[in-house]
Amino acid sequence: MTEKFQFEPSEPATLADHYDLVIIGSGGAGLVSALQARELGLHPVVLEKMPTLGGNTIKASSGMNAAETNVQLRQGIVDSFAEFYEETFQGGGRLNDPALLEYFTTHSGQAIDWLRLHGIFLNDLTLTGGMKKKRAHRPESTAPVGAYLINNLLWLLAQVKIPVYTNTRVTELLKDETGKIKGVKVELLGSEKTLKTKAVVLATGGFGASKQLLKRYRPELAEYQTTNQSGATGDGIFLGAEIGAQPIQMELVQIHPTVQQDTEKVFLIGEAVRGEGAILVDQFGERFTDELGTRRVVSQKITALPERSAYLIYDQAVKERVKALAFYEAKGLVLKADTLTKLAAKLELNASALEDTLRQWNTVVETGVDVRFGRTTGMTHKLAQAPYYAIHVAPAVHYTMGGLHIDQKARVLDRNGAVIPGLFAAGEVTGGLHGNNRIGGNSIAETVVFGRQAAQQAAVYLED
Ligand code: ADP
Repeated sequence: MTEKFQFEPSEPATLADHYDLVIIGSGGAGLVSALQARELGLHPVVLEKMPTLGGNTIKASSGMNAAETNVQLRQGIVDSFAEFYEETFQGGGRLNDPALLEYFTTHSGQAIDWLRLHGIFLNDLTLTGGMKKKRAHRPESTAPVGAYLINNLLWLLAQVKIPVYTNTRVTELLKDETGKIKGVKVELLGSEKTLKTKAVVLATGGFGASKQLLKRYRPELAEYQTTNQSGATGDGIFLGAEIGAQPIQMELVQIHPTVQQDTEKVFLIGEAVRGEGAILVDQFGERFTDELGTRRVVSQKITALPERSAYLIYDQAVKERVKALAFYEAKGLVLKADTLTKLAAKLELNASALEDTLRQWNTVVETGVDVRFGRTTGMTHKLAQAPYYAIHVAPAVHYTMGGLHIDQKARVLDRNGAVIPGLFAAGEVTGGLHGNNRIGGNSIAETVVFGRQAAQQAAVYLED
């Protein structure tokens, strides 16, 4: 892909009346599905309701989890699908759907290979909370994974001329008298149109930006800030439910612990920052948690502090290991000082307490034992290289684990557990894979693994 590549969405007037496969949503799941479908000989279309492409995926920062990859072996990391399964299952409170989790973990390595075959290289590794092994694959430049993935996928879609329409909202799924998908209704340029198709992939993302759904399922979260783009309103849940699909685990909503929310725009500070060695301190300048515990636990710990927020503290070396930090700095979200004393003054913290905390932390790194909080990962480098940095963070609504019930073949199931013929779903719109807590790096992996699977199974379905 050339650096200057700018994707041009299709002209509205060219929207046809019929497609082999209609893919709703242009995040990771939708774009991966589209490419996979084309490679299996189908003519798909991607419909996106927003003026911009990439959904929440384009904002993803940490990486894409996968086990048993060559990238891991090159770094001497011997991993297994079984460990990936087990850690995800534990992290999700053992509420994950075992069949989905099994498919997901055992196809993660292939997904990395598939991307590599398409020139999408995730050759570097980092850690995310709840994982004991470096499993989050990211670009070698350490650039945020989401934008890298989406831009490359759009470039690939352009090469094979897959039509992608923006400002095109799907408002209804249509079934024939036998219960099979026969089309979709869309709204674009203020008018309605019906498209014929025998298969649909719902890749509409989650409902983190829907006050209506949060109020219904988690009323106490309805007024929280969210890291989600404004189009993450759970449309796929409504579209599916109207034709009998079953939403499951809708009350399982993930709060991300480290979100900068002091400016009008909300910025998620990726887990890689902690994975690469940053610590969290409270208003006394002291650590209060294993920074790489699961998102649920770290969020609870921050919310339990009197000011319900904390500071991420890191040094120049961490900054160099996580490219996104330069971006946050450019956005004015980072406080910086030549010495810890000066940083403490900027944060209005007790300087000697902050210095003590770093001294203790560096001993933890040296000995490899975190007696107080039991952190075991992301502690290979001391925090000792000036200048020092701080980012003010607090939890925000980040991800909705619940969604439409699917099987291993990404087929949408109805309330009786029967397949709705022709309806597939992938990505955050689905429920069950993550249990009560999604592990960082698993959402990008989910979009690739199940985005591919949805297209593969749609191809099989359309052949019959
Ligand atoms: P995932 O990570 O599962 O791929 P994303 O949030 O990245 O999900 O992408 C989902 C995309 O689907 C978003 O760009 C969103 O705007 C789009 N979308 C949601 N509802 C509709 C709809 N009714 N019609 C068309 N696009 C939609």
